[in-house]
Amino acid sequence: MVLMKTGLPELINALKALCFPPVCLACKLALPARREFLFCAACAERIETIVEPLCTCCGRPFPSAAGGNHLCSLCLTNIWHFSQARALILYEDPVRQAIHSFKYSGKMAALHTFGLLYQANQRIQKDHPPDLILPVPLHGKRLRERGFNQALLLAQAFFPLHRPRIRPDILMRTRATTPQTGLSGDDRRRNVRKAFEVRERQHLAGKTVLLVDDVFTTGTTVNECAKVLRQAGCLEVRVLTLARVREMGE
Ligand SMILES: [Zn+2]
Ligand SMILES: [Zn+2]
Repeated sequence: MVLMKTGLPELINALKALCFPPVCLACKLALPARREFLFCAACAERIETIVEPLCTCCGRPFPSAAGGNHLCSLCLTNIWHFSQARALILYEDPVRQAIHSFKYSGKMAALHTFGLLYQANQRIQKDHPPDLILPVPLHGKRLRERGFNQALLLAQAFFPLHRPRIRPDILMRTRATTPQTGLSGDDRRRNVRKAFEVRERQHLAGKTVLLVDDVFTTGTTVNECAKVLRQAGCLEVRVLTLARVREMGE
Protein backbone atom coordinates (compact mmCIF):
# COMPACT_ATOMS: atom_id res chain seq x y z
CA MET A 1 0.00 0.00 0.00
CA VAL A 2 2.74 2.42 1.02
CA LEU A 3 4.72 1.39 -2.03
CA MET A 4 1.84 2.17 -4.37
CA LYS A 5 1.32 5.58 -2.89
CA THR A 6 4.88 6.83 -2.59
CA GLY A 7 7.09 4.77 -4.89
CA LEU A 8 10.26 2.94 -3.97
CA PRO A 9 12.78 5.83 -3.98
CA GLU A 10 10.61 7.85 -1.59
CA LEU A 11 10.23 4.86 0.68
CA ILE A 12 13.98 4.28 0.72
CA ASN A 13 14.57 7.93 1.53
CA ALA A 14 12.02 7.80 4.34
CA LEU A 15 13.69 4.70 5.78
CA LYS A 16 17.10 6.31 5.48
CA ALA A 17 15.87 9.43 7.30
CA LEU A 18 14.51 7.18 10.04
CA CYS A 19 17.74 5.19 10.43
CA PHE A 20 20.14 8.09 9.86
CA PRO A 21 18.44 11.30 10.97
CA PRO A 22 20.23 14.32 9.47
CA VAL A 23 22.81 16.10 11.59
CA CYS A 24 24.62 19.41 11.11
CA LEU A 25 27.71 18.81 8.91
CA ALA A 26 29.81 20.92 11.27
CA CYS A 27 28.64 20.57 14.88
CA LYS A 28 26.63 17.31 14.47
CA LEU A 29 23.50 18.77 16.08
CA ALA A 30 20.38 16.76 15.14
CA LEU A 31 18.30 18.44 12.43
CA PRO A 32 14.62 18.05 11.44
CA ALA A 33 14.03 14.85 9.42
CA ARG A 34 13.33 16.46 6.05
CA ARG A 35 15.97 19.14 6.28
CA GLU A 36 17.90 19.52 2.97
CA PHE A 37 20.44 22.19 3.98
CA LEU A 38 22.58 20.36 6.51
CA PHE A 39 23.81 23.18 8.72
CA CYS A 40 22.05 24.06 11.97
CA ALA A 41 20.89 27.68 12.33
CA ALA A 42 23.88 28.69 14.46
CA CYS A 43 26.45 27.21 12.03
CA ALA A 44 24.58 28.52 8.95
CA GLU A 45 24.85 32.00 10.38
CA ARG A 46 28.64 31.68 10.60
CA ILE A 47 29.09 30.68 6.93
CA GLU A 48 30.70 33.59 5.10
CA THR A 49 29.59 33.91 1.50
CA ILE A 50 32.23 35.62 -0.63
CA VAL A 51 30.88 38.91 -1.92
CA GLU A 52 32.30 41.84 -3.85
CA PRO A 53 34.54 43.74 -3.71
CA LEU A 54 37.10 41.11 -4.62
CA CYS A 55 40.25 40.60 -6.67
CA THR A 56 39.18 40.42 -10.32
CA CYS A 57 41.66 37.56 -10.85
CA CYS A 58 42.06 35.30 -7.81
CA GLY A 59 38.75 36.24 -6.19
CA ARG A 60 40.27 37.21 -2.85
CA PRO A 61 37.70 39.26 -0.92
CA PHE A 62 38.67 42.77 0.19
CA PRO A 63 37.74 43.88 3.71
CA SER A 64 36.70 47.36 2.67
CA ALA A 65 34.18 48.27 -0.03
CA ALA A 66 36.04 51.53 -0.75
CA GLY A 67 38.29 50.40 -3.65
CA GLY A 68 35.71 48.30 -5.51
CA ASN A 69 36.86 45.25 -7.52
CA HIS A 70 40.52 45.40 -8.54
CA LEU A 71 43.63 43.22 -8.81
CA CYS A 72 45.14 42.28 -5.45
CA SER A 73 48.84 42.87 -4.80
CA LEU A 74 49.63 39.19 -5.42
CA CYS A 75 47.89 39.11 -8.80
CA LEU A 76 49.65 42.29 -9.91
CA THR A 77 52.95 40.42 -9.79
CA ASN A 78 51.93 36.78 -10.20
CA ILE A 79 51.38 35.33 -13.65
CA TRP A 80 48.45 32.96 -13.43
CA HIS A 81 47.52 30.59 -16.22
CA PHE A 82 43.82 30.84 -15.31
CA SER A 83 41.93 34.03 -16.04
CA GLN A 84 39.76 34.00 -12.97
CA ALA A 85 39.23 32.02 -9.78
CA ARG A 86 36.02 32.22 -7.80
CA ALA A 87 34.80 30.50 -4.65
CA LEU A 88 31.40 30.31 -3.01
CA ILE A 89 32.32 30.61 0.66
CA LEU A 90 35.24 31.18 2.99
CA TYR A 91 37.23 28.17 4.17
CA GLU A 92 36.76 28.73 7.88
CA ASP A 93 34.71 26.88 10.48
CA PRO A 94 31.97 25.67 10.15
CA VAL A 95 32.70 25.24 6.42
CA ARG A 96 36.11 23.69 7.11
CA GLN A 97 34.49 21.11 9.42
CA ALA A 98 31.84 20.30 6.80
CA ILE A 99 34.43 19.83 4.03
CA HIS A 100 36.51 17.60 6.31
CA SER A 101 33.54 15.37 7.12
CA PHE A 102 32.82 15.08 3.38
CA LYS A 103 36.39 14.55 2.23
CA TYR A 104 37.87 12.44 5.01
CA SER A 105 34.80 10.72 6.50
CA GLY A 106 32.96 10.26 3.21
CA LYS A 107 29.87 12.16 4.36
CA MET A 108 28.14 12.18 0.96
CA ALA A 109 25.02 13.89 2.31
CA ALA A 110 27.12 17.08 2.27
CA LEU A 111 27.03 17.20 -1.53
CA HIS A 112 23.40 18.22 -1.76
CA THR A 113 24.07 21.06 0.70
CA PHE A 114 27.11 22.20 -1.33
CA GLY A 115 24.92 22.13 -4.46
CA LEU A 116 22.36 24.34 -2.71
CA LEU A 117 25.12 26.82 -1.84
CA TYR A 118 26.04 26.98 -5.54
CA GLN A 119 22.41 27.44 -6.60
CA ALA A 120 21.98 30.29 -4.12
CA ASN A 121 24.89 32.22 -5.65
CA GLN A 122 23.67 34.14 -8.71
CA ARG A 123 26.94 36.05 -9.14
CA ILE A 124 28.96 32.86 -9.57
CA GLN A 125 26.51 31.37 -12.07
CA LYS A 126 26.64 34.35 -14.41
CA ASP A 127 29.26 32.92 -16.80
CA HIS A 128 28.30 29.26 -16.55
CA PRO A 129 28.26 26.76 -18.10
CA PRO A 130 31.58 26.76 -19.94
CA ASP A 131 32.31 24.30 -22.78
CA LEU A 132 34.01 21.83 -20.45
CA ILE A 133 33.93 21.28 -16.70
CA LEU A 134 37.06 19.52 -15.45
CA PRO A 135 37.51 18.31 -11.88
CA VAL A 136 41.05 18.68 -10.50
CA PRO A 137 42.20 15.05 -10.65
CA LEU A 138 43.58 12.87 -7.90
CA HIS A 139 46.40 10.45 -8.60
CA GLY A 140 45.19 6.85 -9.03
CA LYS A 141 46.78 5.81 -5.74
CA ARG A 142 45.03 8.56 -3.73
CA LEU A 143 41.76 7.83 -5.56
CA ARG A 144 41.94 4.19 -4.53
CA GLU A 145 42.65 5.13 -0.92
CA ARG A 146 39.82 7.68 -0.67
CA GLY A 147 37.40 5.89 -2.96
CA PHE A 148 36.19 9.07 -4.67
CA ASN A 149 37.46 12.31 -6.16
CA GLN A 150 35.86 15.12 -4.18
CA ALA A 151 36.33 17.56 -7.07
CA LEU A 152 34.37 15.35 -9.47
CA LEU A 153 31.51 14.90 -6.99
CA LEU A 154 31.41 18.67 -6.40
CA ALA A 155 31.30 19.35 -10.16
CA GLN A 156 28.34 16.96 -10.40
CA ALA A 157 26.61 18.64 -7.43
CA PHE A 158 27.09 22.12 -8.92
CA PHE A 159 26.13 21.19 -12.50
CA PRO A 160 23.52 18.40 -12.38
CA LEU A 161 22.06 19.57 -15.69
CA HIS A 162 25.39 19.63 -17.52
CA ARG A 163 26.71 16.13 -16.89
CA PRO A 164 27.99 15.67 -20.48
CA ARG A 165 30.27 18.71 -20.06
CA ILE A 166 31.86 17.23 -16.93
CA ARG A 167 34.90 15.31 -18.16
CA PRO A 168 37.06 13.52 -15.59
CA ASP A 169 38.91 11.74 -18.42
CA ILE A 170 40.77 14.73 -19.87
CA LEU A 171 43.02 16.06 -17.13
CA MET A 172 45.10 13.39 -15.38
CA ARG A 173 47.44 13.49 -12.41
CA THR A 174 50.32 11.37 -13.61
CA ARG A 175 52.62 11.89 -10.67
CA ALA A 176 51.68 11.15 -7.06
CA THR A 177 52.42 14.28 -5.04
CA THR A 178 52.59 14.75 -1.31
CA PRO A 179 49.64 16.73 0.14
CA GLN A 180 50.17 20.49 -0.31
CA THR A 181 49.17 21.27 3.27
CA GLY A 182 52.14 22.41 5.30
CA LEU A 183 54.45 23.05 2.31
CA SER A 184 55.94 26.48 1.62
CA GLY A 185 55.19 28.35 -1.61
CA ASP A 186 58.29 27.16 -3.46
CA ASP A 187 57.86 23.59 -2.25
CA ARG A 188 54.22 23.63 -3.36
CA ARG A 189 55.20 24.75 -6.85
CA ARG A 190 57.96 22.14 -7.05
CA ASN A 191 55.58 19.50 -5.72
CA VAL A 192 52.99 19.88 -8.50
CA ARG A 193 55.35 20.62 -11.39
CA LYS A 194 54.77 18.19 -14.24
CA ALA A 195 52.16 16.37 -12.12
CA PHE A 196 49.37 16.79 -14.69
CA GLU A 197 48.81 15.63 -18.23
CA VAL A 198 46.11 16.20 -20.80
CA ARG A 199 44.38 13.42 -22.72
CA GLU A 200 41.90 13.83 -25.57
CA ARG A 201 43.83 16.92 -26.67
CA GLN A 202 41.71 17.23 -29.81
CA HIS A 203 38.70 18.27 -27.68
CA LEU A 204 40.43 21.25 -26.13
CA ALA A 205 41.33 23.68 -28.93
CA GLY A 206 39.48 26.98 -28.52
CA LYS A 207 37.39 25.71 -25.60
CA THR A 208 36.48 27.51 -22.39
CA VAL A 209 37.19 25.34 -19.37
CA LEU A 210 36.08 25.53 -15.78
CA LEU A 211 38.33 23.73 -13.31
CA VAL A 212 36.51 22.59 -10.19
CA ASP A 213 38.08 21.84 -6.81
CA ASP A 214 37.07 21.86 -3.16
CA VAL A 215 39.36 24.52 -1.68
CA PHE A 216 41.51 27.31 -3.15
CA THR A 217 44.49 27.90 -0.86
CA THR A 218 47.56 29.21 -2.71
CA GLY A 219 46.27 28.48 -6.21
CA THR A 220 49.39 26.45 -7.03
CA THR A 221 47.58 23.24 -8.00
CA VAL A 222 44.90 24.83 -10.18
CA ASN A 223 47.55 27.05 -11.75
CA GLU A 224 49.57 24.01 -12.81
CA CYS A 225 46.39 22.41 -14.22
CA ALA A 226 45.54 25.63 -16.08
CA LYS A 227 49.05 25.72 -17.52
CA VAL A 228 48.82 22.31 -19.19
CA LEU A 229 45.28 23.06 -20.41
CA ARG A 230 46.39 26.33 -22.01
CA GLN A 231 49.37 24.55 -23.56
CA ALA A 232 46.89 22.06 -25.02
CA GLY A 233 45.03 24.90 -26.76
CA CYS A 234 42.23 25.90 -24.36
CA LEU A 235 41.03 29.42 -25.01
CA GLU A 236 40.35 30.25 -21.38
CA VAL A 237 40.60 28.47 -18.05
CA ARG A 238 38.58 29.61 -15.05
CA VAL A 239 38.50 28.09 -11.60
CA LEU A 240 35.57 27.41 -9.31
CA THR A 241 36.03 26.10 -5.79
CA LEU A 242 33.53 25.48 -3.06
CA ALA A 243 35.65 27.45 -0.60
CA ARG A 244 38.79 29.57 -0.41
CA VAL A 245 41.07 30.90 2.29
CA ARG A 246 40.68 34.57 3.13
CA GLU A 247 44.36 35.41 2.57
CA MET A 248 46.52 33.40 0.20
CA GLY A 249 49.92 33.80 1.88
CA GLU A 250 52.84 31.61 0.90
ZN1 LIG B 1 25.85 23.21 13.54
ZN1 LIG C 1 44.29 38.34 -6.60
